[in-house]
Amino acid sequence: VAAAASAVTELVGDRASDWDRAGRLPEDVVRRLGAAGQLTAQIPARYGGPEWSSADSGEFTAHVGSLCSSLRSVMTSQGMAAWTVERLGDPEQASDLLPRLASGGTAAVAFSEPQAGSDLSAIATTVTVDGDTLSLTGRKKWVTAAAYADLFLVVARMGEDGAVVVVPRDAPGVQVRPVADPLGCRAAGHAEVLLDDVRLPLGSLLGGGRQPLSLLVTTALAYGRISVAWGCVGILRACVSAAVDHARSRHQFGRPLGQHQLVARHLADLWTAEQVATRACEYASRRWDENAPDLVTAAVMAKYVSAGHAARGAATAVQVLASAGARDGHLVARAYRDAKLMEIIEGSDEMCQLILADHALSRR
Ligand code: FAD
Repeated sequence: VAAAASAVTELVGDRASDWDRAGRLPEDVVRRLGAAGQLTAQIPARYGGPEWSSADSGEFTAHVGSLCSSLRSVMTSQGMAAWTVERLGDPEQASDLLPRLASGGTAAVAFSEPQAGSDLSAIATTVTVDGDTLSLTGRKKWVTAAAYADLFLVVARMGEDGAVVVVPRDAPGVQVRPVADPLGCRAAGHAEVLLDDVRLPLGSLLGGGRQPLSLLVTTALAYGRISVAWGCVGILRACVSAAVDHARSRHQFGRPLGQHQLVARHLADLWTAEQVATRACEYASRRWDENAPDLVTAAVMAKYVSAGHAARGAATAVQVLASAGARDGHLVARAYRDAKLMEIIEGSDEMCQLILADHALSRR
């Protein structure tokens, strides 16, 4: 993990702000990380992946998140796609798709639709079977990494149930339309994916399809939530370091900012936020690695805790830097915009609160 972290530090260098402003990651950065297996580090060795534990993959995700949340977002989508294939695909699909994803192939996961945001039971994209082919029609929005993806894992309705369909980007009937000017993670390649009578072989249905929609969604999101949570830890680490450096070096009223108690309190809160988020993520990853029964709840809690701390922590870092950080292109300004989105994705704060409240109410 340490070697991978130092390689990615070198790969990103000081370019993250330029990528953010350009709204695009260089294709070779995505492909190089993918080819090294590092976009999908938990893929088992038997499929050609590095087979890192969730804990190791999490630390690496935090490191990437501290450098560039857009790249980390691509990593989250790709990892979520791989996990969905591993979990729901049949052995033949896993043997075909996972080695591709572990060696530079790219994928994104599409749930959200114009009328299905928090309420994914409203998904209207539909798959129908016609002899030995399927037809897929619908409209997906805000698909992270869609700009870079070779494949889309599309969550659809199939009769009374659901299905995940593996859709090649170049299949006839697929159109990808970039989201213009997103608030944050601007280089993460968000796009709408339009599917108009896309015809594919039945083998494109992961595990044959006809699984409960809620199971499909929960399976993919459990991975995505832990990954986003670790990404938030990365945002917090970058903010702690920027705020501390500034509070040491900038003087006002004859002393370093850090020696003014109200600024010192900001530093204490920010560091505490980073530590609390780290502990929540470590717990979730440990439960994931143990395949413990509470892993889904632990993932929701880690995401909820880390996203909230990252959003508040990034705002605190901007406060400490004040005018020094209040411009496009500064790390804390980027963190401020990126972190806010973390409270929306993979289950908004409110959705997480509802899940956690249900859990609390059902405990004895
Ligand atoms: P809505 O569902 O319309 O909700 C609006 C507000 O109301 C939110 O605050 C919500 O929490 C609240 N709310 C809704 N219902 C309730 C309720 N019952 N009780 C209390 N509060 C409620 N989707 C994908 O499929 N794949 C991706 O890769 C992906 N990446 C994304 C990346 C970014 C940066 C963003 C912004 C979105 C992404 N999305 C993706 C979409 C994302 O999953 C949705 O934006 C999210 O689920 C919220 O849906 P919505 O935006 O439609 O908000």
